[in-house]
Amino acid sequence: MSANPLSTALYSLRQAAGLAGLDPKVIELLSTPKRTMEFTFPMRMDNGEVRIFTAYRVHWCDALGGFKDGTRFTENLTLDELKALALWMTIKHSVGGIPAGGGKGGIVVNPEDLSEWELERLSRNYMRHLPMKGAWVDVPGADIGTSEKTQGWMLDEYESIIGFHSPAAVNDKPTAVSGTLGTDEATGLGVYFVFEQVVKDFGFEKNCSVAVQGFGKVGSILAKYLTENGYKVIAVSDVYGGIFSANGIDCIKLNEHLSKTGSVVDFPGTEPVSNDDLLEQEVDVLIPAAVQSVINEDNASRIKAKMIIEAANGPVTSEAEEELRAKNIPVIPDVASNVGGAIVCHFERIQGLTDEYWDIARVRSQLKDWITRAYHQMLATAADKKVSLRMAAWINALLKIEASVKKRGWV
Ligand code: NAD
Repeated sequence: MSANPLSTALYSLRQAAGLAGLDPKVIELLSTPKRTMEFTFPMRMDNGEVRIFTAYRVHWCDALGGFKDGTRFTENLTLDELKALALWMTIKHSVGGIPAGGGKGGIVVNPEDLSEWELERLSRNYMRHLPMKGAWVDVPGADIGTSEKTQGWMLDEYESIIGFHSPAAVNDKPTAVSGTLGTDEATGLGVYFVFEQVVKDFGFEKNCSVAVQGFGKVGSILAKYLTENGYKVIAVSDVYGGIFSANGIDCIKLNEHLSKTGSVVDFPGTEPVSNDDLLEQEVDVLIPAAVQSVINEDNASRIKAKMIIEAANGPVTSEAEEELRAKNIPVIPDVASNVGGAIVCHFERIQGLTDEYWDIARVRSQLKDWITRAYHQMLATAADKKVSLRMAAWINALLKIEASVKKRGWV
């Protein structure tokens, strides 16, 4: 299997489609994007020079609903990367029960090279030149290099173009611009809700031990909820290194240490551990929440966790997963455990469409209901079809998409 992300995504698609017995015409339809858009626009920089930017938007499949998801501003952005992500979002939306298709886009740019004014003009230009947009067409959200700030500008630009308010047309915008509460914590909290179910369903005790790799937007929120609810987080790491304490780490205080020092390293009362050693700890639940492919064919044989929950995208390679399966170590796949952000983006769209804005308690309780339902559907399919949890999640997603494709009469 190639390291190209699109080849990886298509490999998973074909593997799951085979197990699901999908109609070959549906597989063919899902193997290419519905459309890809590559466009350029000129923009005057602060120094007076004009720079031409290249931008993209990929629409994979919209059988379940309008296109939705992130916008990347990165220097090395490629169309293949965006195609892979758009396919993954098509699957993730279906897994999460979200009535949306998979989209992804962005601009080839390093946002760090831009002034604040240039970033604003760039975000507005993206929205202005995006060929297809609108609450019922394509709803861009944030991703790497974009933030609630860029999304606020994009919404304002869109509303200026159409001449009326349409808060559901852009996601991940600030609450002051009709965004939703709970965006920042959605993915980490969603992983926590999945963890709670895993503890119940797989017979772990309340004092079970947990290791979390990565202490960013996802890992730090997840770890905070684990501590708050009395679970024992024995190891945590970030890109600078890890920390260990057999008695458990107070991840609420650790968040304060991170704000002061910029890292989890040297948190008082803990001993250092390397990122490699963290993954190989004897622990009940291991949660990789940093980057892809950290559990691979090199270290899979040394993994001693009883269960892995993928919070990052693709932290366990397919080769490693086969080895873990043989060792009876279940892996809760990314498409089911980190879908919380996509679910809350859907809640943001609902609020924008209805102009009725939810309190945080409602966002959290609905998130818990939605992510838990998707998790249980995955468990039921895995038991029924005797396949891995990852394949079960993909099969459920593909069968839902196939049903819509057929009822629409597309194939
Ligand atoms: P982030 O950049 O906020 O945090 C990443 C964390 O991982 C940081 O603590 C960083 O120091 C650490 N890290 C980076 N490289 C590492 C390495 N080689 N070894 C160990 N630690 C390393 O990112 P995030 O938003 O928390 O995302 C984490 C993962 O979750 C990514 O795979 C991302 O694609 C996935 N994800 C994020 C969201 C979201 O809403 N943010 C949604 C779905 C999936």
